[in-house]
Amino acid sequence: MGRIRVLSDNVANKIAAGEVVERPASVVKELLENSLDAGATEFRLDVEAGGRRLIRVADNGMGMMRDDALLAFERHATSKLSDVKDLLSIATLGFRGEALPSIASVSRLLLETRAREETVGTAVELAGGKILRCDDAALAGGTIITVRDLFYNVPARKKFLRTEQTEIAHVASLITHYSLAHPDKSFLLRHNNSELLDVTPVASLRERVYQVFGSQILEDLLDLGDQSRAFPLPVDDEQGGPRRFRLRGFVSGPQVQRLNRNSIYLFVNGRLIRDRLLLHALSAAYHNLMPPACYPFALLFLDCDLEEVDVNVHPSKTEVRFRHGSLAHDFLRDTIRDALMAQRPVSRIPSPAQPAAVLPYSEFTQHVENLNFPAAGEIRGVGEMPGAGAIAGAGELGLPENPSALPEFTLGRPPSPPPRFAFADAPSSTEAPRLAVPDTHGPLFPGGTLPEPESLEALKDLRPLGQIHDSFIIAAGRDGLWIIDQHVAHERILFEQVLAARGRNAVETQGLLMPLVIQLTPAEQLEYARIAEELNALGFDTEPFGNRTLAVKSAPAGIGASDVEKVIFEILEISERELRKASLDDLRRSMAASIACRAAIKINMKLEPAKMDWLLRALAATSSPMSCPHGRPIALRYSTRDILKSFHRI
Ligand code: ADP
Ligand code: MG
Repeated sequence: MGRIRVLSDNVANKIAAGEVVERPASVVKELLENSLDAGATEFRLDVEAGGRRLIRVADNGMGMMRDDALLAFERHATSKLSDVKDLLSIATLGFRGEALPSIASVSRLLLETRAREETVGTAVELAGGKILRCDDAALAGGTIITVRDLFYNVPARKKFLRTEQTEIAHVASLITHYSLAHPDKSFLLRHNNSELLDVTPVASLRERVYQVFGSQILEDLLDLGDQSRAFPLPVDDEQGGPRRFRLRGFVSGPQVQRLNRNSIYLFVNGRLIRDRLLLHALSAAYHNLMPPACYPFALLFLDCDLEEVDVNVHPSKTEVRFRHGSLAHDFLRDTIRDALMAQRPVSRIPSPAQPAAVLPYSEFTQHVENLNFPAAGEIRGVGEMPGAGAIAGAGELGLPENPSALPEFTLGRPPSPPPRFAFADAPSSTEAPRLAVPDTHGPLFPGGTLPEPESLEALKDLRPLGQIHDSFIIAAGRDGLWIIDQHVAHERILFEQVLAARGRNAVETQGLLMPLVIQLTPAEQLEYARIAEELNALGFDTEPFGNRTLAVKSAPAGIGASDVEKVIFEILEISERELRKASLDDLRRSMAASIACRAAIKINMKLEPAKMDWLLRALAATSSPMSCPHGRPIALRYSTRDILKSFHRI
């Protein structure tokens, strides 16, 4: 007798369960997706002991007929696909027909369901994948699936479960995600009988965001509206027709800086996914606006033609493959970038009266982080700027080089994970009760209301008052007090000037008195050959000078002779480290950032009032005055409103 045997269904199901059912949250995901596919509008979830003891999902969907209720537990039984052609355009969340048999094989499962068109319902009970009974049952329309004792028959798996708190956090994060994707439906999640999320149908995504995260977070978010674009495909692409992409959702301004990707929620055609390509596009949108290794809050819904995405990539259906990945990538990046630029947000000094808003913690995206992710640098790779170490000034003052280590001047949110279940409402105020203050001081704005905080347009009217530490300009504006980092402000101005001049082929250069001779390593020599033309166009007149030696005859105006060598090495290093795959445009931006950084006025430098005035005006004229090309904030504003709050005048 041969040695090969066909596995029994029971074994095959358990193997599939290994991929599909990783933890309680994966059970919840499959059940919830089935309910959504069944057209349900109400979802009630009960979880006990982090999902080990019990997971129950009840929906008001179309329900199942008796025969289907039994068939659903057969391997590869699905009502959602019939032909292999269907695989190319999957509109439902499920399609593999694997989830129910897999879950049933590793738990004790009770299915109670009644199809709308039937008068009596069906109850099916299974344990370890075996059907124990199938009876008629008096039920309302819809489906209730109860999963008890998950992994009771797979002790190895059980051992891998984390604490109750961790498991329920994963579940809660998942439900939060789905509730955001379906504002018109109601979701209730209870854990050990206490309510974690309860949202009723609302008309817009904005209202759902408010229900889930509260008003304070909404304030920090930018509504992308409803953006769509069609991209023609090359004529020789056999898929024909233009590709349409649509993006909706919210992103945070550059002032919200998270230290991980936990606050990034991505949906493609309504499916919650993790996708490196889209995460990269998001990082690229914030490029030059946010420091490297910081991430925004983002809730993004990307929709496209069904044929454009292959969802059949992994059994858990959390990965997709775009047929024209670069279209999706660039559309997402450009749409978000445009929205950010249009808003020109400015950093606010957190008002002392309010606890800093905490953004919700997404276990799902944490998962992305922990699992199959390349190093952060690789993801942000394209066009990345040199690290903080390359920024002149920071080291000189003896300041820590990582800007987030300077609490007074950074607006990054605290890195610790915020409370996970503060979903229900806006964080309540923790202020102590105030004593009534006799109103002897007179109103600040007689007869009028408080002026609305103004946008960056206000930069134009700033009056510089002086410097702190010869490094930060203090300025008074109509809408409050501003603090401007002189080095990064100048860096932003020069960066845009260099790029503009490069665009016109009119970069200003200065000849060096003596040509500078630089020794290169073989690797640097290769990099140099690759970027020589661009270096020259940016004002470095260089030419090879013997073996692995370079002669530099002139450099961009503004760079001190002693800095020329440093800039060239810096550019070669960026080029080698990060930009091998980058576009010419990214390379150019990186080079311009290096030049700007070297040429900018340093911190620890006294400035005449006229110079400060000039700096503020030039900054106001830049396209992105809120952050330097390396992503650090340039200006902090203490708004009149915040000042009034601090003095308890409002
Ligand atoms: P898939 O979702 O890939 O089709 P599943 O194993 O998750 O596979 O479910 C099998 C089938 O059971 C589905 O195709 C669907 O017909 C039915 N089903 C599962 N859950 C529900 C539900 N909540 N309401 C109605 N039908 C359901
Ligand atoms: Mg399914």
